[in-house]
Amino acid sequence: MTIDVKEVSEKDKRSVLHPFTHLKDFATGKLGEPTIVETGKGIRIQDAHGNELIDGFAGMYCVNVGYGRTEVAEAISRQAYRLAYYHCYAAHTTDELANLSDRLVKMAPGKMSKVFYGMSGSDANETQAKLVWYYNNLRGKPNKKKIISRERGYHGCSVVSGSMTGMRFYHDYMDLPLPQIVRTGAPHHYWGATPGETEGEFSARRAVELDQLIERIGPNNVGAFIAEPVLGTGGITPPPEGYWKAIQAVLDKHDVLLIADEVITGFGRTGSMFGSQHYGIEPDLITVAKGLTSGYFPLSAAIVGEKVYKVFEDGADKVGAFSHGYTYSGHPIGAATANAVLDIVEKDNLAGNAREVGAYFQAQLKKTFAQLPIVGEVRGVGLMGAIEFVSDRDSKTRFDPSLKVGARISKAARDRGLIVRPMPHGEILGFAPPLVTTKAEIDDIISITEKAVGSVMDELV
Ligand code: PLP
Repeated sequence: MTIDVKEVSEKDKRSVLHPFTHLKDFATGKLGEPTIVETGKGIRIQDAHGNELIDGFAGMYCVNVGYGRTEVAEAISRQAYRLAYYHCYAAHTTDELANLSDRLVKMAPGKMSKVFYGMSGSDANETQAKLVWYYNNLRGKPNKKKIISRERGYHGCSVVSGSMTGMRFYHDYMDLPLPQIVRTGAPHHYWGATPGETEGEFSARRAVELDQLIERIGPNNVGAFIAEPVLGTGGITPPPEGYWKAIQAVLDKHDVLLIADEVITGFGRTGSMFGSQHYGIEPDLITVAKGLTSGYFPLSAAIVGEKVYKVFEDGADKVGAFSHGYTYSGHPIGAATANAVLDIVEKDNLAGNAREVGAYFQAQLKKTFAQLPIVGEVRGVGLMGAIEFVSDRDSKTRFDPSLKVGARISKAARDRGLIVRPMPHGEILGFAPPLVTTKAEIDDIISITEKAVGSVMDELV
């Protein structure tokens, strides 16, 4: 199929409202023409001009099995021919949905019981908030409703999930956050620690702060804590040593549910199947999306733990039907896609690949960038990593944001054939390549990034 590039560009500029895009710069052409992405294979995509790019961010940290997997395309096609749609209201189901749910309950960490489906990470977190409120209403604790999230956390863009997101630029001019959502400090040692404070001390302090926050609000008013096992969009930051153990103790003490947002970390990215397993977290509720279908179909899930589900079932006689659901909850094509993707994840041991190739990636990232004068920190786990740029590494002085250092390095990499993401919270370059990436491909990613960083460093002196 040949694409008429000019026509597509014109239609796009005329009619698409692009997320996270400076609308005036786009409309006036300052951002250039839209990139028309035409095909993808393995870890590479190709634009309509035939330019090939290594996708060092797996789309939006989601195409874990890589592009162009015919097994997945065939599963989608098979299901579309067989039964393109049916709902799962009022006890209807499909074989693919039942199989997927059983599989997720068995593979997920902790004692999980049931799976509720949505179409995006945002709506799944929206569901989680409602489940927490429902749970506490049924338990006769109608005030236990506040949900604590963290500075720099990212949980989506809808009204509740956007409120959970702990970055101001997602709130400003959008009338968020809602008052039910309360914030605690980020698990970000590099920027959050006091001089000389060790990771362990910093984690203990964050736990004390959480304890004090819950005491201040009143434990009877706090329903849940939501967090990503590894901070994602807020800077790709693994938790500091001892963090999860200390935090969980506080949540247990106050009977506060833990929602593990595994939208990025689920299905192998950290080198373990779930981030919760990697860090010894025992969640009550788990959110998954992205890697569940590797982005081949929009599907998300709120996985509900036994403790929470039991209260729902026990309360059913009193409240009647569980009144929450979407037309597309448990979509059969989504379920078939997820089953085909999880077959690949398991058969090809992609968590194992993320562990092995991830260890190589982390070592190369540190070796190549950690000593550069404009690099403050290199961090990551498995196949997710970040380089944080500062103007002075000794005094940890930030770059003037108007210099747009992260964006310029990302652009320089792109001009050399690599997509890496300038993260929205600071001068940070983020990496999250597909989980099928090989060591040789990591070498390509590192080598292009090195040239891109070098070229922007030259411009800065
Ligand atoms: N939670 C986390 C941890 C995410 O990284 C994201 C998206 O990046 C979301 C939730 C929201 O997912 P979606 O964009 O599918 O709504």
